[in-house]
Amino acid sequence: MKQSPTGSPWPHRFVGGALCLDFINSIDVPGTAREQDLFVDYQAILRWSLARGSLNQAVYDRLAAMALASPAAAETVWREALALRADIRALTGALRRADNPAPLLSPLNERLSRLPAAPALRHAGKAGRIAFDLPGKRLDEPLWPVLWTAAALFVSDDTEKLGECQASDCDAIFIDHTNNRSRIWCATETCGNRERVRRAYQAKRAARQKMA
Ligand SMILES: [Zn+2]
Repeated sequence: MKQSPTGSPWPHRFVGGALCLDFINSIDVPGTAREQDLFVDYQAILRWSLARGSLNQAVYDRLAAMALASPAAAETVWREALALRADIRALTGALRRADNPAPLLSPLNERLSRLPAAPALRHAGKAGRIAFDLPGKRLDEPLWPVLWTAAALFVSDDTEKLGECQASDCDAIFIDHTNNRSRIWCATETCGNRERVRRAYQAKRAARQKMA
């Protein structure tokens, strides 16, 4: 199955401000009955990587074919991806709460120690975008840029700017670049609008109940 590199099949915008944060923002309406994990299988992780620009089309095609030929190995990488996502989210949570992050570093360090040296950088096609030039030889390659960018984020000053969307059905994590840390929503046009509509509806209903 071919995916267009431009006409992205991925249903969401990327709002995290870092590749590793977009990776963890991949559960839709968490904590509700409508919760949906967008990483349903290994191929979904490939689709995410293509849409996010961390894999190019040629690498995508190669890894997609490899996964079809080795479904058990692809499933192992998929499970590893879910574990990695949980570990990065736990660490961002600890940093946001100013908890001691030390106990959460071991799994990340272990994964980092297994990575090859980062490859050359390549122009990713879209203006202003640069990506790692992955070889397209191993099924776990989509996780490498996630780990490299997570390490870069966690040693940067941006750890002090980690914010979480305040919508009741969204827990997207983002880097808040506003001067006074005033970003409330992962995206105003989705979560911000939805939450405003919900609050207006609740206020109206409360007013009606008071009159009744
Ligand atoms: Zn949101």
